[in-house]
Amino acid sequence: MNTLMKSCLAVAVAVLAAGSASAQQASSARNFESEINAALESAKTAAGFEFTGTLARICLLPQSGGEDTSDRVPGYVANPASAPARETWYGEPARVFDNLYFVGGKIHSSWALTTREGIILIDTIYTYNSEELVVGGLKKLGLDPRDIKYVLISHAHADHIGGAEMLQTKYGARIVMGGPDWDNVAKHPNRYKTMAPKRDIVATDGMKITLGGTTVTIWLTPGHTPGTLSYTFTVFDRGKPVNVVYSGGTAFNFVNNTPDPGIRNFQTYIDSQKHIAEKAAATGATVILSNHSEFDNAVNKNRMLAGRGDGPHPYEIGSDLVQRYFRVMQGCARAAQLKLEQRVAETGKRE
Ligand SMILES: [Zn+2]
Repeated sequence: MNTLMKSCLAVAVAVLAAGSASAQQASSARNFESEINAALESAKTAAGFEFTGTLARICLLPQSGGEDTSDRVPGYVANPASAPARETWYGEPARVFDNLYFVGGKIHSSWALTTREGIILIDTIYTYNSEELVVGGLKKLGLDPRDIKYVLISHAHADHIGGAEMLQTKYGARIVMGGPDWDNVAKHPNRYKTMAPKRDIVATDGMKITLGGTTVTIWLTPGHTPGTLSYTFTVFDRGKPVNVVYSGGTAFNFVNNTPDPGIRNFQTYIDSQKHIAEKAAATGATVILSNHSEFDNAVNKNRMLAGRGDGPHPYEIGSDLVQRYFRVMQGCARAAQLKLEQRVAETGKRE
């Protein structure tokens, strides 16, 4: 080999080595686009045709940038005439299981679990419609609102806590809420005007609320709010026990427009969904309930009940689909979390 050939070879080897080094660099750099797509794909696959509302709400819509820290009296409390028109929210109450009644509206849900010693009520909707939907709904179904012994508040947003003060004052119901959400209510006297119950039972993870032989087990699922609660309990369908998991908070209402604390907040949310999915699996839950019809399709399912005949209960979707519900939540949250991780990787900025 002559000198020229030797040096050509040396250059070629150097070029090859450089090429493979940069290829190595590229393959070790994260491909965020494909990771985000994989997270979205997993949520979409998990949703199937059953959870399109949840998928659309948290995978598709732009998320709110952060939590509301203001303390203003809501317009519909300051001026009740400005509350949304009845036809936008009114829905028919329904007996859904032997011992579980729907007393919500078109958009938001409230559930009454009946026992031989009274009613455990789950969520209370707004100040302006809790009287008609919850109190009126119970009466329409032949139940007595004076039997409400416990009111479980999934989280302290006005669409779920709205009737809590009224139910506590009128019927002496015990109110259960997550500690951080009790604190939030105390901190915002204007925002919670006419809806703030006196501080009562502070929920803990695994706490059991038992009334007349029926037990609701509370699971702390912080994320949507720091005090969000989810539940497991058993209902009966024509005498057959059916296990239910209730998901207490869904949308990304926490601060998530900056990597810090957005990445951490998404992780809290994801960990909570894993926690409640585990409890759903352990209790053999075949029904998923929520506090928005958008997520569990309650209003449509209530209509389907009328034509059920001897067919399956429209709410009983099986344990596999119940698990898939929580995978939709995790996939959408992971995709949003990845976008923040990508921003850090590209800009080095966490704020
Ligand atoms: Zn909420």
